[in-house]
Amino acid sequence: MDSAVTPTAPAGSRRARQQPPWPDGDELAEVEAELAARPGLVTEGECTALRDALARASRGEALVLQAGDCAERFADAAPAAVDRRAEYLYSLADAMSTASGLPVVPLGRMAGQYAKPRSAESETRADGVRLPVYRGDAVNGPEAEPSARSCDPRRLLAAYDHAAAVLGRVRATWPGRPAGRRLYVSHEGLLCAYESPLVRRGADGSHASSAHSVWIGDRTRALDGWHVGWAAGLGNPVGVKLGPSITPAEAVRLSHVLNPAGVEGRLLFIVRLGAGPARRLLPGLVAEVARRGAPVVWLCDPLHGNTWRLRSGRKTRPVEAVRDEVSVFARIVRAHRQWPAGLHLETTPEDVTECVSAPDRTPVPALRVDFPRYTSACDPRLNPGQTAGVLARFAESL
Ligand code: PEP
Ligand code: MN
Repeated sequence: MDSAVTPTAPAGSRRARQQPPWPDGDELAEVEAELAARPGLVTEGECTALRDALARASRGEALVLQAGDCAERFADAAPAAVDRRAEYLYSLADAMSTASGLPVVPLGRMAGQYAKPRSAESETRADGVRLPVYRGDAVNGPEAEPSARSCDPRRLLAAYDHAAAVLGRVRATWPGRPAGRRLYVSHEGLLCAYESPLVRRGADGSHASSAHSVWIGDRTRALDGWHVGWAAGLGNPVGVKLGPSITPAEAVRLSHVLNPAGVEGRLLFIVRLGAGPARRLLPGLVAEVARRGAPVVWLCDPLHGNTWRLRSGRKTRPVEAVRDEVSVFARIVRAHRQWPAGLHLETTPEDVTECVSAPDRTPVPALRVDFPRYTSACDPRLNPGQTAGVLARFAESL
């Protein structure tokens, strides 16, 4: 491994946030050993090809569309379901390309988006029963039953198998496409027990063999935490989500820790501030990173900062705020002579009713909506029509 990318503290001695309460016993260690013995899911060469494509985006010669489900389900690995998502992501990338006049790199939230960070450990069922939270198919099941919610280490092996099936199907779409316009795969690198054993040595150092690109969530981006230490040692393009608690100084430090050699296309800063906070916080963030930071690819996730919890307990997102945040993002990043390189979206080809239209800043509790087709296992996704509106607004704002 290149010593320049060795994290200052070994990942093993750092605190890992958001890990599931795995059962006591030997099973987890056995699963980790089995994952370590399996072939890598992606090759180092594929990760390098993605990094080159992202480098073009960082120079303003291309855009990035990172998109897919909030929580991918194992059942979504069925061939027809993968084909449908792959075609959808290619069609969104084409639409973005037509609207902007630039090539678009499609990067799926798929083939491993099976682990979720959660803000609470448990939740209350309608009948008052407390249940551990759903943490993604790699950990437990979403059904509102105590048995489904217990954490099962063997699900990590199932996650690998389903990711392999999805990737096989995605690779079948590659022939005939230039390397920069293939559908690459990415997920949140959350579970140490999955990611650690899948780190592999290649000709150019270590890489995560679990996906072409992995990102660190807003809840796990502590500079001294396990996730940053892990990601710092990888050769893959890596992302980090930046929520409203980020400070400009911290963002600068993250950029150096995660991109110590200053490689173009290596580090994605995925900002998810919310439309209002973005106006206040983004100028200082972009200015400081541009002045003192390592090179980053600026992406906007306009969904996670614009989430409302309704009285019913449902989460939704107003599409007006989502569109607003992408244009605020593009305007502010450009005002600092940096390139707004693209979007990170939770979206599905299904005609779901999960995000809502709430014009004129409708107050949250006043919102009375039916959600007849709410099928997300976690956060609300944009449907195709809503997504088209967000892409159009972004392209206009460039
Ligand atoms: C997500 O992308 O689903 C997610 C949990 O995001 P964040 O880390 O930005 O909250
Ligand atoms: Mn989400």
